[in-house]
Amino acid sequence: MPSSPATPPAPKVLGVAVPTPLRKLFDYRPCQPGPSAGWQPGMRVRVPFGRREVVGIIVECRDTSDFGLASLKPVSACLDSQPLPADWLWLCRFTARYYQHALGDALHQALPVLLRQGRPLEARTRERWQLTATGQAADAASLGRARRQAELLELLRQHPRGVVGSVISAQGFTRAQLRALAEKGLAECREEPLTAAPSTPGSALLAEPALTLNREQATALSELHQGLDRYHPCLLQGVTGSGKTEVYLQLIEAIVAQGRQALVLVPEIGLTPQTLARFRRRFRVPVVALHSGLTDAERLDAWEAARAGRSPIVIGTRSAIFTPLARPGAIIVDEEHDGSYKQQDGLRYHARDLAIARAHKHRIPIVLGSATPSLESLVQARAGNYRHLRLTRRASSHAPARLELIDLRGRSRQGGLIPPAIDAIKGALGAGGQVLVFINRRGFAPTLACHNCGWLAECDWCDSRLTLHRQPPQLTCHHCERQRSIPDACPDCGSADLRPLGTGTERSEESLGELFPDVCVHRIDRDSTRRKDAFETTLNEIRRGEPCLLVGTQMLAKGHHLPHVTLVVVVNADAGLYASDFRALEHSAQLLIQVAGRAGRAERPGRVLVQTLHPDDPHLRLLAESGYDALAENLLEERRIAGLPPYRHMALLRLESPREADGLTLAGEAAGALRQWLQARELAVDCLGPVPAPMERRQGRYHVQVMLSAARRSSLHEASAWLTAWMEQSPLARRARWNLDIDPQTL
Ligand code: ADP
Ligand code: ZN
Ligand code: ZN
Repeated sequence: MPSSPATPPAPKVLGVAVPTPLRKLFDYRPCQPGPSAGWQPGMRVRVPFGRREVVGIIVECRDTSDFGLASLKPVSACLDSQPLPADWLWLCRFTARYYQHALGDALHQALPVLLRQGRPLEARTRERWQLTATGQAADAASLGRARRQAELLELLRQHPRGVVGSVISAQGFTRAQLRALAEKGLAECREEPLTAAPSTPGSALLAEPALTLNREQATALSELHQGLDRYHPCLLQGVTGSGKTEVYLQLIEAIVAQGRQALVLVPEIGLTPQTLARFRRRFRVPVVALHSGLTDAERLDAWEAARAGRSPIVIGTRSAIFTPLARPGAIIVDEEHDGSYKQQDGLRYHARDLAIARAHKHRIPIVLGSATPSLESLVQARAGNYRHLRLTRRASSHAPARLELIDLRGRSRQGGLIPPAIDAIKGALGAGGQVLVFINRRGFAPTLACHNCGWLAECDWCDSRLTLHRQPPQLTCHHCERQRSIPDACPDCGSADLRPLGTGTERSEESLGELFPDVCVHRIDRDSTRRKDAFETTLNEIRRGEPCLLVGTQMLAKGHHLPHVTLVVVVNADAGLYASDFRALEHSAQLLIQVAGRAGRAERPGRVLVQTLHPDDPHLRLLAESGYDALAENLLEERRIAGLPPYRHMALLRLESPREADGLTLAGEAAGALRQWLQARELAVDCLGPVPAPMERRQGRYHVQVMLSAARRSSLHEASAWLTAWMEQSPLARRARWNLDIDPQTL
C-alpha cells in the first residue's frame, strides 16, 4: 500500500500470545508468504498449539528464541494485513500486567467473539481506489509497456470518487497492478466501511436542543470544558435527578463537535434502556450500544465502527472499556460506585479503574458520576487527584427525601411490613401516588422451616439456605442455582408443619395484593423479568401514572426514572450492617440512597421509610440524619484506622478444591513461601491467612483465601507477581483451582 513504509525485514521469531491461562508467550517461526505490510505486533495468527489450532496475537517480533530456531513450528497463517489497534493492545497489556493475568487470555477476552475465532476484520470494510493528484495529471502513455496498468489508470480516471476494490478485480485487474500504480504514486487506496454512516459535523449534531443548565450544572460543564485536551479526571457527585446525565450529554456534544469519540460506561444497559434512548434522541450522529443482547456479528460491527471512528458515541457495560477508539475524546463512567464494573471471574478487572488508566494514556477527560461515590473515588477527590464537582439540587424543585427509620422490633408484620408502613402506603395511594416496596430478596421466602423441630432447608452443595419460590413452586439455592422440590414433611422429624421463614418479593407481592385489593401490584425482580420485554412493558405501565404498588429488588433501584413514586418503603435495611465484608456497609448505604432516590422525582415530594431491627445503629443513623457524605467520611476514617482500602491496597488469593484439605494445604504453603520471600526482600506487604472464605462451601467445593495488603501499590504488585509465579509452578496447584484477585470488591 502506498502510505505504508517499506516492508521491514521479516523477523525470525514471532512471540505469540495464545489463549491459555499460562503467563508466557509462545515462540513460532513466520510462515511464507507473510503479510504484505510485514510482520507486526498486534496481528492475529493461526498457530498449532498442542493438538489444536488456535488464534493467537503476535506480541513480539524478534530474531532469537530461547528454544533454538530449528525447533520452532511455523505459524499456520497470518489473519490480518494490519495490526489490531495500538491503543487496544496497550490496554490489554496494561490489564494483564495490573491484574496478574495471562496476556493471551486477556487479549482473547477483550476481542469480539468473531475476531477470536479468526474472522477477518477486513471483511467488514472494503478498499476504495482512486487517483492521486499526480495520477490525475499523468499520461497513460508514460506507463509504457505496462498496458494493463495504463488501462487501470484510465478506469480510475473515469471515476473521480474512486472504485471499490472488488469491482476492480471483477474487471480482471490484479493486486500487483494496483500496487504498481500505488508505488509510482499514481493511485491510492483507502479503507471504507461496508455500511458507512454519514457523520454530520457542526450545527446538525443535535437532533433536539440541549437543556438550559442550572447554575451548578453550568459550573460543572465549564469546568469540564476547560480540560478537553488533557487528562482531566472529575468526580461528578450529584443526587439522583440532579442532572448529571444532562451534563454528560453536553460534554459529549463538545467532544463530538471536535470530531472525537466519547465512550460511556453504564452499569446495566438492559435495565436502563431510557438512558440509551435519551442519547439517541439527543444526537443525530450514530450512538453505538454494546450490551449482552447483541449477536456476535452486531458486536463485531459495533467494535469495528468504534475502531474506525465511525461511531462518535459508544455506550456499553463493563466490557465496553475494551472498545478501541480511533479518536478518543472523553470517557464517562456513570454510577461509578456500581459493583457490576468489577468482573468477578476469569480476568478480574475493574472497568472504572481501567477507564482512569485509559483516560490517562489518551490524555483525555474522564467523568466519574454518582450520587454515592465509592470511597476509592472520594479519597482521590480529597487528595486533589480528581476534581470534585457537585450537583446538590434536583432539576425539579424537590430536595431528595430523607430516610425515616422505623423500628421493626416487637411489631406484628404483614408481608414484612409493620402497621406504620402499611398506613403510610394507604396514605400515599389515597393521594394518587405510586409506592415502591424494596426487598432485596427474590423468591417467596428466604427459606423453609419446620415449626416442630427447627429444621431449615439447606443446600447440599453450599453453606446456604434454599430459597422458597412459588412461581414455580420449588426450593432454589441462589448460590449454585440447584433446585429441589418442596418436601411434604420435615425430613428430620416428619412433621407436616413446614412454614416459609421471612419475606421475599413473591410473598410481599401476595400480601400487598391482599392488603390493597383495589390497586395493581407489579413485581420486578430477576424472575419476573426473565422474558425479554417484560421489564420494559411493566415500566411503561408504571409510567402511565396510575396509583399502584411496585415490589422489587435492586433492579428497581438503578437509574429508572419513576416520576410518580411518592413513597419508598425499605422492608429491611439490616443486611449490610453486620456483615463480615468490610465493604458491606458502603454498598448497602449506596443502595439505600439509590432506592430512596426513586421517590418524588417529579412534581410531588417523596417520603422514604426504612424498616430496621437496629434503629440505633450509629452508621444507619448517620446515614439517615446527615446523609451519604457524612457516612462516607465516617467509613473512610474507620478504614484508615483499620488499614483497609482505599488507604491500603489489597489482593486476594482464592483457592477452591473438592477436598477441604487440598486447598488449605496449598494455601498454607503458598502463604508460608510468600512470607519467607517478603522477609528476605524486606518488602512491606502483610500476608494474612489462609482462612476459610466467608461462605466456605459453595457448589460442593471448599474455598479458602490468603489476603495480601500493602500501603504501596508497587510492593503489592511485586508480591502478587511473585506469588502468581510460585502458584503456577507448584505441583500442588493442580489439585485446587486458584486465582489472584487484585483490588477485590468482595471478600
Ligand atoms: P441524573 O442523571 O443526575 O439522575 P438527569 O440528567 O437524568 O439526572 O436529570 C433528571 C431530570 O431532570 C431529567 O428528566 C432531565 O431531563 C431533567 N433535567 C436535567 N437538567 C435539567 C435542566 N437544566 N433543566 C431542566 N430539566 C433538567
Ligand atoms: Zn422437623
Ligand atoms: Zn447451593
